[in-house]
Amino acid sequence: MAAIIMDGKALAAKWKDNIRTQVAALSQRPGLAVILVGNDPASRVYVTNKEKDCAQCGIYSEEFALPAEIGQQALLELIEELNRRPEIDGILCQLPLPKGYDYDEEQVLQAIDPRKDVDAFHPYNVGRIMIGDYTFLPCTPAGVMALLDEYGIDPAGKRCVVVGRSNIVGKPQAMLLLHRHGTVTICHSRTPDLGSVTREADILVSAVGKRNLITADMVKKGAAVIDVAMNRDENGKLCGDVDFAPVAEKAAYITPVPGGCGPMTRVMLLQNTLAAARAHGKA
Ligand code: NAP
Repeated sequence: MAAIIMDGKALAAKWKDNIRTQVAALSQRPGLAVILVGNDPASRVYVTNKEKDCAQCGIYSEEFALPAEIGQQALLELIEELNRRPEIDGILCQLPLPKGYDYDEEQVLQAIDPRKDVDAFHPYNVGRIMIGDYTFLPCTPAGVMALLDEYGIDPAGKRCVVVGRSNIVGKPQAMLLLHRHGTVTICHSRTPDLGSVTREADILVSAVGKRNLITADMVKKGAAVIDVAMNRDENGKLCGDVDFAPVAEKAAYITPVPGGCGPMTRVMLLQNTLAAARAHGKA
């Protein structure tokens, strides 16, 4: 039997409607500042999409497009100014910062006021996620949890395997599944015999960035398979880590790429901006 396709696009549209309604009920608009340094085309697309999403939900967004050579100091000064501005509830600095310059991404992330850190990358927010007491969740793992909830897949008591251990996806994803009482294993590039671990998974989340890494023989029959990755195939078409068609024959649930985790990641930024506005007293 073929798996149920977990429709992230439809769920994101539903969340957006809900966010738009909540924003409309506020007396002051939530505000998001988006900083883009340099002219990386992929980053440009991400930033434009984020601004479009904000406009659709009634969130004020302000873009700061800076030349690649602006430098660490000027970037930190801008963040300081945005930290002080009351109409700005969330600050997002699009990563990666341009290569070949003296940027320190860690210092930039730490300069953002944790109360405006809508990406949830600041160590303070990372720590709060560890202890399960948070205002913001990192967007991609939060989007995965929303997809699981939508399809009635409860991690409690399940074997959950996360492939990938980055600070922005793999690690927080594992933590969120743990908070929801999953029994969680994290795999990475040094995990020997990856299939022997992934075959145990009732819920398998792959966040690596390698096309066809997860093949059908690595998946347990009836599993929920969540593909976070965004890769390009030889024709430039977007694809994930999962060998989709054969895995869909074996799994009970599967996310497509595109149309699975991507739209949910985008919507969680809006959710975090709304949460920040509320935390700043906008009612
Ligand atoms: P990352 O920082 O490059 O991390 C990749 C992880 O995969 C690392 O932990 C790495 O292990 C592990 N890995 C590499 N090769 C492996 C292998 N053969 N077997 C098992 N694990 C392996 O990437 P990321 O930022 O977490 O992103 C992961 C993917 O998600 C990318 O495709 C990215 O484009 C995508 N992504 C999508 C969204 C979205 O909105 N859908 C958002 C963010 C990211 P080591 O730690 O040992 O090196």
